[in-house]
Amino acid sequence: MLRLIAPRFCSPRLSHIARLKLRQQHQQPQNARNYASPSVSSPAFDWKDPLASNDLLTEDEIAIAETAERYCQEQLLPRVLRKCAATAGSLSRRGPANEETLAYRDENYDRAILSEMGELGLLGANLQGYGCAGTSTVAAGLITRAVERVDSGYRSGMSVQSSLVMGGIHEFGSTEQKEKFLEPMARGKLLGAFGLTEPNHGSDPGSMETTARPHPTKSGYYVLSGAKTWITNSPIADVLMVWAKLAETGKIRGFLVERANCPAGTLETPALKNKNGLRASVTGMIQLDNCPVPAANMFPSVEGLRGPFSCLNSARYGISLGVMGALEDCLSRARTYALERRQFKNNPLAKYQLVQKKLADAATDAAYGVLAAIQVGRLKDEGKATPEMISMIKRQNCDRALHNARMLQEIFGGNAASDEYHIGRHVANLFVTQTYEGQSDIHSLILGRAITGIQAFA
Ligand SMILES: Cc1cc2nc3c(=O)[nH]c(=O)nc-3n(C[C@H](O)[C@H](O)[C@H](O)COP(=O)(O)OP(=O)(O)OC[C@H]3O[C@@H](n4cnc5c(N)ncnc54)[C@H](O)[C@@H]3O)c2cc1C
Repeated sequence: MLRLIAPRFCSPRLSHIARLKLRQQHQQPQNARNYASPSVSSPAFDWKDPLASNDLLTEDEIAIAETAERYCQEQLLPRVLRKCAATAGSLSRRGPANEETLAYRDENYDRAILSEMGELGLLGANLQGYGCAGTSTVAAGLITRAVERVDSGYRSGMSVQSSLVMGGIHEFGSTEQKEKFLEPMARGKLLGAFGLTEPNHGSDPGSMETTARPHPTKSGYYVLSGAKTWITNSPIADVLMVWAKLAETGKIRGFLVERANCPAGTLETPALKNKNGLRASVTGMIQLDNCPVPAANMFPSVEGLRGPFSCLNSARYGISLGVMGALEDCLSRARTYALERRQFKNNPLAKYQLVQKKLADAATDAAYGVLAAIQVGRLKDEGKATPEMISMIKRQNCDRALHNARMLQEIFGGNAASDEYHIGRHVANLFVTQTYEGQSDIHSLILGRAITGIQAFA
């Protein structure tokens, strides 16, 4: 069933995505490469797309990226530092509705964002059926790139919903679970969280302590006990995908915990406030105390770390293109600043070699990162991508985005200390993207194991 685009976002381009969705329902997955025809005139260098990665995209992918970019620049960017009304049901579950907040400064996440993204078909975009757009993997990555160009926190909230939770249900859920959760999640009506990390077990989730035991009195139910921490969306999520060890087998299983059905005192999701990064997203804990969950809400067959790792694989792909969006925004802002700011003999900073080198490094790493991600996206749709490829692009793109953003920050001098220049916000955010979904050094170990055949984790 197709959804209509909400009138307030309607524009010729946005209504185009509705037509795209119609067309995509009758198309094979988009693997076609749309190489530009040879040009008779000399090609010009485009610093925004130095290696002409756009030539590798299909027309539909370009249209989807443009739609996402427009929504993000027009609707999301103003919320980061400008005052906007907090809606009822935003993080301000605790506070009054309609108060004015700033997403980054006040650490407020406007719950309405997920609904808006749902209306545009941006959630779970590459999934088939259940009201999802069914785009290529690359197109879904271009959406994360557009969102993260504004803020990694907004991209994190979307990635958790789209890749970790919806992707997990789509891949591992029973027919009933898919039918119950996916369509409302695609519309942004139900919000998801993904609980894997625990206070004592982050990089090593196989040692998790959260357990699921058969309910002592209620047949067909499990009780979940344990704690998850640093969980994106948890304080406001309606559905929490919790990974726990089944007491009977010691094997990790996935459960869909529905907040509305949890008896008082069995589920708490306190927010973790005063973060240094990702302040435009909401993060918290999941505390389970003999929380009853129907057996029907357990993923029927997936066991062990294969479940959570498969969800993470998909989200990591989105991050690899997402962080390139953040880096591209840093580059664009630093270039503008360097051209406008004058020092020594009234020269623009952009005239100086050391400044140009920083811009050249960032543009090069962004261009390489985008190309690599497009290649892996194509392989993923052809069934030829390996988890190590995803580790490689997640690690490399996150590391290079963080390093270059930090270097570009220097161009702003003292002004970099002000959040009005945005660069410091991106640097703080990019530290987190390098840390979560497998810290970069952990991805080095995954690659090292694949290269040597020897695992170096323990
Ligand atoms: C804002 C935010 C949002 C998050 N959202 C989610 C979420 O939605 N869901 C979720 O489940 N988790 C989430 N996380 C958690 C995140 O995935 C973890 O923080 C991450 O996996 C690292 O785990 P840790 O913090 O326990 O670090 P640790 O595992 O303690 O690692 C600390 C350092 O030691 C290094 N290290 C660890 N083991 C080794 C080794 N064997 N060899 C070499 N170096 C090693 C690591 O690379 C790292 O540098 C989030 C985190 C943040 C900050």
